Amino acid sequence: MDNNHLGETLLPLAPKNGRRVLFFPYPLQGHISPMLNLANLLHSKGFTITIIHTNLNSPNQSDYPHFTFRPFDDGFPPYSKGWQLATLCSRCVEPFRECLAQIFLSDHTAPEGERESIACLIADGLWNFLGAAVYNFKLPMIVLRTGNMSNIVANVKLPCFIEKGYFDHTKEGSKLEAAVPEFPTIKFKDILKTYGSNPKAICETLTALLKEMRASSGVIWNSCKELEQSELQMICKEFPVPHFLIGPLHKYFPASSSSLVAHDPSSISWLNSKAPNSVLYVSFGSISSMDEAEFLETAWGLANSMQQFLWVVRPGSVRGSQWLESLPDGFIDKLDGRGHIVKWAPQQEVLAHQATGGFWTHCGWNSTLESMCEGVPMICSHGIMDQPINARYVTDVWKVGIELEKGFDSEEIKMAIRRLMVDKEGQEIRERSSRLKESLSNCLKQGGSSHDSVESLVDHILSF
Ligand code: UDP
Repeated sequence: MDNNHLGETLLPLAPKNGRRVLFFPYPLQGHISPMLNLANLLHSKGFTITIIHTNLNSPNQSDYPHFTFRPFDDGFPPYSKGWQLATLCSRCVEPFRECLAQIFLSDHTAPEGERESIACLIADGLWNFLGAAVYNFKLPMIVLRTGNMSNIVANVKLPCFIEKGYFDHTKEGSKLEAAVPEFPTIKFKDILKTYGSNPKAICETLTALLKEMRASSGVIWNSCKELEQSELQMICKEFPVPHFLIGPLHKYFPASSSSLVAHDPSSISWLNSKAPNSVLYVSFGSISSMDEAEFLETAWGLANSMQQFLWVVRPGSVRGSQWLESLPDGFIDKLDGRGHIVKWAPQQEVLAHQATGGFWTHCGWNSTLESMCEGVPMICSHGIMDQPINARYVTDVWKVGIELEKGFDSEEIKMAIRRLMVDKEGQEIRERSSRLKESLSNCLKQGGSSHDSVESLVDHILSF
C-alpha cells in the first residue's frame, strides 16, 4: 500500500514492527467503519493486521488487500436484518474461540522468520463474551468504543437513575425538560428516550458490557479531548485502565471505502451545480426506520421549506414500503429540481462539499462527528440508543445544531430548516461549526491531542 492511499494527513508508512494486531468489528456500518479506519491507522504504524469477522455484514476484503481476513460462520445469512445483540453474541462465542485457536496455531506453525507475534485483540465494545475467550489465550484485549464518552457516563449512572425512580415519575409534566441531577448536561427526556423502553433489561445488558471494559487492557475512543474533556475525568475514575482518545478516526484517511452499500454517484454530480451552503443534506443512518406517516411529514417539511435538499431514503427504511412509493403522486415534479433523493450517498464527500450548508441527522455518532469535522451545522432528530444524548451535546454543549422537539412534524421541520438555512440564527451556528471544525482538525496534527494519543496507543500495544 502506498502512502497516498493513507489519506489527507499523509501518514508516513512505518517499517513493519513484527507484531500482529487482531481486530474484531461488530457487524454494523457505524461500527465497521471506525474499526477498519483504526486498523489502517495501526497498519501505517508498522503493525500487521488480521480482521476476524462474522459472515453477517462482512467487510469488503478487496478494499483492504493489505489485511488478512478470518471470517467465521455465525449462522446468519450474510445480510439478514432484525437480529438482536444477545442472539448474535451467543452464536459467536464458539466460532470466535475456534477462529482464535486457528490463528494461534498458524502462528506457531509458521516458519521461523515469518512469525509475527500476536500483540493483542482490539474488539468492539458491544461484544459481551470476549473477556473469557481471550483469557484462555493470555491475549490482551483493548476495547474500541465507536461511540462517545457521554453515553458511557449515562450508562454508568443508569442503575442510580432506576433506583431513584426516574423512569416511573418523569413521564408527565414539566420534569421532562429539567436537568438530571447526577448528570446535569442531559435532561430527563433524554434518559427516557435512551432507556425508557425497558430500563432494567437495558441496564443488565449494559452492565455486562461495562464489565468487559473494566477488565480490558485499555479503551480506544472515537472521540477527542476537545469534545469530551470533562467526561474523560469521570471515565478514568470509573474504568481504571489506559484510555486513548484518538478520534475522529475517519479523518486519518480519504472518504473511507468501508461502506457496506454502493454509493450513488449522482449525489455529488447534483451538488456540483449548487451554490455554496445552499443544500440541506438529510440522512438518518444505516439502521433507523420510520412509518409512512413520519415519512410523509418529512417529505412535506422538506418541500415546504422551499430549500434545496439531498435526501437519503434507504430501501426498506419506510416500514411497509419498498422505497418511495408512498410519496404523493407528482411530489417530485412539484419540487421543480429543488430536491434529489438517493438510496445511499457518499456521506463524507457530501458533507465536505461546498454546496452542503446543513445536515438533518438522526445523530448517530459517526454522522455527528463527520458533520462536525466538516463544519456543517445540524438539525437533530434524536431517535434511540446513543442518539438522544448525542443530540443534547450537539445542541446544548457544542451548540452546533437545532433540536427537533416533536419528532416528525412537517411544520416544525419546515421552520427548523429555515432557521438553519436562511435565518441569522443559522449563520451564527455555522460560525460556531467552523470554529469546531478547526479545533477538530488541529487535534489530529503533530502536537494535537489525538495525534499524541495515537503515539501512546502504539507504545502501549508494543509493550504487550
Ligand atoms: N452513511 C453513508 N451513506 C449514507 C448514510 C450513511 O455512507 O447514505 C454512513 C455515514 O457516513 C456513517 C454511517 O453510515 O459513517 C452511519 O453511522 P452512524 O453512527 O451515523 O449511524 P448508524 O447507522 O449507526 O445509526
